[in-house]
Amino acid sequence: MLLEEERNLVATYGRKLITSQLTTGTGGNLSICNREMGLVAIKPSGMDYFEIKPEDVVIVDLDGNKVDGDQKPSSEIQFQLALYHHRSDIKAVVHTHQVYATTLACLRWELPAVHYLVGLAGDKVPVAPYATYGSKELSENILSAIGTYNACLMANHGLVTVGANIAAAFSTAEQLELVCRLFYQAKCIGEPAILSDDDMQVVIKKFNKSDSL
Ligand code: 13P
Ligand code: ZN
Repeated sequence: MLLEEERNLVATYGRKLITSQLTTGTGGNLSICNREMGLVAIKPSGMDYFEIKPEDVVIVDLDGNKVDGDQKPSSEIQFQLALYHHRSDIKAVVHTHQVYATTLACLRWELPAVHYLVGLAGDKVPVAPYATYGSKELSENILSAIGTYNACLMANHGLVTVGANIAAAFSTAEQLELVCRLFYQAKCIGEPAILSDDDMQVVIKKFNKSDSL
């Protein structure tokens, strides 16, 4: 099977999105780019994560042409592919509707450096302006908001994270859910302290040196 390893990972991490409560129903999507082959394994659109078998994962080229698979690729194929064109360091993209991050996205608030784990994304998590799901405008909004960050909130929609592999993109989404929850809870009873730019630069350097948190 073409891109068997990537297809297996898309199916496995898709199930993890549900079991880790990072999305509900068929919401959210994920993809992995094989840079050597110039091909992307992407979640099939609207399919129950627990029914997705590796062969259901769709293989497309970086222009979006279908290369293998019977299913329809995710409706967010446009921003998923745009991110691979935007930055050569990106090899996996995860999009979720996780509750606490999406709460912030509904307020159109950025996530400030309220906890050192924000450093997985950068010195904050920016927010992309709202546009209809699956649209070119949404793709453009995400590209300009994410810049060199590893995550961005999508106004009134959810979160997108990127990484050098699917484990990293998934982990960033998972850890940011914790931080968004902490930010929300701290805001309920007071005004959270925000880490300084200097403190965040130290953390970001440490993250770049090793995978451990
Ligand atoms: P797909 O099922 O087409 O991937 O769409 C889910 C989604 O989250 C749209 O933003
Ligand atoms: Zn979505």
